[in-house]
Amino acid sequence: MKYILPEGLRYSTLSERRDFYRDEFDLSRVSKWISRRAGHNIFAVIIGRHTKIYMKRFSRHFSKTIIIDDYKGLNDVRSLILKFLPESVYYDRNIYSRADGPLRILGQELVFDLDPENIVCPIHGSLKDKMRRGQGLSFCALEFKMVRMKTVELYERLSSFFTDISAVYSGRGFHLHIFDPETLAWSFRERRMLASKIKREGYPIDEWVTAGGMRLIRLPYSLHGMVSRIVTPLTFRQLECFDPVNSRICIPKFIGEG
Ligand SMILES: [Zn+2]
Repeated sequence: MKYILPEGLRYSTLSERRDFYRDEFDLSRVSKWISRRAGHNIFAVIIGRHTKIYMKRFSRHFSKTIIIDDYKGLNDVRSLILKFLPESVYYDRNIYSRADGPLRILGQELVFDLDPENIVCPIHGSLKDKMRRGQGLSFCALEFKMVRMKTVELYERLSSFFTDISAVYSGRGFHLHIFDPETLAWSFRERRMLASKIKREGYPIDEWVTAGGMRLIRLPYSLHGMVSRIVTPLTFRQLECFDPVNSRICIPKFIGEG
């Protein structure tokens, strides 16, 4: 089944994914983002779990999470992405030791994940209502505006705790990444406590992501294949008026020139 999305957002085809990762995927920006994480990084892709769009030869793996751990550099990562042509690309928020031998976890990047499906929409109802109609991943323009407003508020709220916050348009909603170094060493319990406090304050976050139970997060500058938009870091000013239908910074060439 197809999910209902705001006007202009649609699934990417395999050839659009190929064009994007071959010509447009900005490895120098990815590298700059990733370099804020001192250690070894693990990436992951999902080929076609939600879109069911995948190459025939991956028909047994299309809905699996494929881990990319064995690579020499980001060019290698791009080659693997071009092999799989996935709907989604992620990285593991854990930071690992580079040393040879078994991987050691050095810490984890703290992230807040705000999605429009966690907004109760005056028209479409709650996530429960949408799931009952098989539309759990659908969202409307109003839900997007509401989640953006909540993200702006949460950014301001978190500024009282943290100094190094980056907002990212995730393709559906927003992520707030915290790069204050001391948070890397936080325990699961500390993360979970902050997550439930923020949730209780009324922010539509996925507590499981903040707590660290779900470690994969969308890779900035990758393509979100369900909506044909680029996962895009935003300044606070850009965030305040961001519109995924018209904001040029998140629109891939195959949409913008089409
Ligand atoms: Zn709605």
